[in-house]
Amino acid sequence: MELLELREACRACTSCRLAERRRNVVFGEGNPRSPLVLVGEGPGDQEDATGRPFVGRAGQLLDQALLANGLSREHVYICNTLKCRAADWSSGRPQNRAPLPEEVEACRQWLIPQLAAISPKVILCVGAPSAKNLIKKDFKITAERGRYFPCEYAKTAIATLHPAYILRNQGATTDGGFSLLVGDIAKAWDTAQRLAGRGEPAEPQLALF
Ligand code: URA
Repeated sequence: MELLELREACRACTSCRLAERRRNVVFGEGNPRSPLVLVGEGPGDQEDATGRPFVGRAGQLLDQALLANGLSREHVYICNTLKCRAADWSSGRPQNRAPLPEEVEACRQWLIPQLAAISPKVILCVGAPSAKNLIKKDFKITAERGRYFPCEYAKTAIATLHPAYILRNQGATTDGGFSLLVGDIAKAWDTAQRLAGRGEPAEPQLALF
């Protein structure tokens, strides 16, 4: 299926209960012809409000890490494991929570064809839920990030620390792992460029879908 067609179908999805409270489906955006796709965990408050991936505080840190590599959102494609916000509403106010296995499973009907439509050379899994979904179930993010793994959906996959985790860890004497995120993006991008047979970075393309 074409990416735009897939996005339209995804926007109407009611396969799991996250559909009941969402404000927007967050399908993904960036350059659909990029050799590198970043796959995060799932939308938070800002993403749910805007329909765009990684636009909250974690997203701003991700933008900084891309920029540290001379990259912007137009160079890569960014999406998530879950397309709808996972939140606990028991207090009356939504609190972000980790995706449930059945939500991840239900959302694969969108993520896997999305990856097939883009056909990236490299997938960068941003955070553990993404790596567990796309690389292997028992992925250990701190021990195994930054390494190449075989992946069904690209030539190779690499995982990195989630920027929300980095924000929680940052302190007076630590960058919380920000330099690791920057280095993992560099590695993923260089490998993607090499596998795409491009010596020079691809022209950024402003096709945001
Ligand atoms: N965290 C994610 O994993 N994805 C987003 O889109 C925003 C925050």
